[in-house]
Amino acid sequence: MPRTRGGPQVHKFGGASLADAGAVRHAVQIVSRFPAGETVVVVSAMAGVTDRLLELARRAVRGEPMDEASLAALRRQHAEAIRLTARNAETRRALVAALDESLDELRALLAGLRVVHELTARTSDHVAARGERLSALLMAGALADAGRKVRLVDALKVIATDGTFGNAAPDFAATDRRARAVLAPLLAKGIVPVVPGFIGASKQAELVTLGRGGSDLTATLLARALGATAVHLWKDVPGFLTSDPRVVADARVIPQLHSREAAELAYYGAKVLHPRSLIPIKRRSIPVYVRPFADPQATGTEVSERRPRTRSPVRAVSGISGQALVTVTGNGMIGVPGIAARTFEAMHQAGLSVTFITQSSSEHSITFGVPVRDADAARVALEREFHDEIARQDIDRVEVRRGMATVAVVGLGMAGARGVAARVFGALAHAGINIIAIAQGSSELNISFVIEESDAAEAQRAVHEAFQLAKIGGGAVNPPERVAVVLLGFGQVG
Ligand code: ADP
Ligand code: ASP
Ligand code: MG
Repeated sequence: MPRTRGGPQVHKFGGASLADAGAVRHAVQIVSRFPAGETVVVVSAMAGVTDRLLELARRAVRGEPMDEASLAALRRQHAEAIRLTARNAETRRALVAALDESLDELRALLAGLRVVHELTARTSDHVAARGERLSALLMAGALADAGRKVRLVDALKVIATDGTFGNAAPDFAATDRRARAVLAPLLAKGIVPVVPGFIGASKQAELVTLGRGGSDLTATLLARALGATAVHLWKDVPGFLTSDPRVVADARVIPQLHSREAAELAYYGAKVLHPRSLIPIKRRSIPVYVRPFADPQATGTEVSERRPRTRSPVRAVSGISGQALVTVTGNGMIGVPGIAARTFEAMHQAGLSVTFITQSSSEHSITFGVPVRDADAARVALEREFHDEIARQDIDRVEVRRGMATVAVVGLGMAGARGVAARVFGALAHAGINIIAIAQGSSELNISFVIEESDAAEAQRAVHEAFQLAKIGGGAVNPPERVAVVLLGFGQVG
C-alpha cells in the first residue's frame, strides 16, 4: 500500500465516472490502495443523477405529470449498485431503506412544486443534494463491505458557506475549523471518512449547494482544512486535456499544468474542474491530480504551482457558450469619468457577475459579457442607472447581443512571447470566423475572444491546430503515489 509523508490525501470520485455498481467497486479498489488514516473520500452523485433530479423538478413546476420512468431509473441505478456492492444483508437492507426514504421525500417535494409552480434556488438545492447523499451512502456501504473502517460524514457539519442557494461561496475559516474537528479524529482512528461533495451549510445550518460541479470544490476545501498532501480528482477523461475532447477530437493530456492556467481554463468553460476549486488551496503547495478513473496507474495531470517545462506558449483552449454581450454606447461617454465604474456598480447591485470586459480606447463604448440568462436583468439595471444620460442622448443605447460564446486561449508562456495573438487571429481568419470582441489580460496568460455560438467549436479546433496542441500536449509523469513510494523506499504499489 502506498505511503506518503504526513497529511492525508483527498480522493474525489466524479459523477461522470460513477455510472454503476462496477464503477463503485472500482472506486473501492482505488481507495483500498491508500492507507486508512490518510485517506478522505469525496463523492459526486452517480452519473446523470443531478441532471435527472433537476429535470424532474423543472417538470413538476411546469405542472407536467410525474416522470415515473425517470424516477424508476433513479431507483434502479442506486438499488442495483447497492445490491452488487453491499454483500452484508443487514447493510443492504439499511441502504435500500435509506434510498426509498430519499425517493419518497423527493416525490413529496415534487408534488409540492406542482402546487406552488415555483422552483426557488433553495428547493432546487434540496432536490439536487440527494444525489450526493445517496452516492456517499452507497460508497460508504461498499467500503465497509470491503472491510474498511469507514464513516459517512454529513457535509453540512464540515462545509461552511455564505448561504447563497444554488451557488454558495465557502467560508474558509469556518470550514477549516469544522472539517478538522470532525475529520481529524476519524483519521486518527484509521477510519476513512466519506463526504458527499457539492453540498454545504449556510450560517443558519440550512442546506446549500456549491454550484454545478461543486464536488471538486468540496475536495479542495477538505484538503486545505486538513493540510493534505494531494487531491486526486478521478474523472472520466485521461487528465486535463488541451481542449474539451467533445469539441476537439485529438485533444491531448497535459502532464503538468500551472494552477493559474488551470483556473483560467476552468473559468472559461473547461468543465473538468469547478471554476472556483483551486482558490482554497492557493499558495498551499497541495497538488491536484486530475486522473483517469478507468486507468488508476496512469498519470493524468498534475495541477500545481510548479512552472511547467514547456516551450509552447499556448497550453490549452476552452470555450463557454450561452453568453450575451452587453454594450453601452454613446458619444457623450467620451472622456466622462465614472461611466465604467457606474456600469459595473450597477451589475454588482443587480447581483450579476460579468465574464468579460472590453472598452475601445475612444471610450465610445463599453462592452461586457454575461450569461444569457442574466442579459435582460443587466439591460434593465443599466437603463435605470443611465436614465438621465439616455434622456439627454449622451448615451445612445444599451444593446444586448445573444447567442455568443467566449473562447479562451491560455498559457503562462504567452507572456512576452511575440506573435501569439497574430497566430490566434490568423487561424480564426483562415477558418472564416468573425470575431466580435477581444480581451487580453495584462498578465498575458489568456487571450479571450467572443464569437457567435455556432462558430465556437470550429474556433477551438482552429486554435488547437494552429498551436499544434495535439502534438505537444502529451507526455508522461510519474503517478503521485509512485513518486511517494520511490522517495520513501516503501514496497510495491497496488
Ligand atoms: P466529474 O463528474 O468527474 O467532475 P465532469 O463531467 O464534471 O466530471 O468533468 C469531466 C468532463 O469535462 C469530461 O468528460 C469532458 O467532457 C469535459 N471537459 C471539458 N474540457 C475539458 C478539458 N480541457 N480536459 C478534460 N475534460 C474536459
Ligand atoms: N453532482 C453535481 C453536479 O452534477 C456536483 C458535481 O458533480 O461535482 O453538478
Ligand atoms: Mg465535475
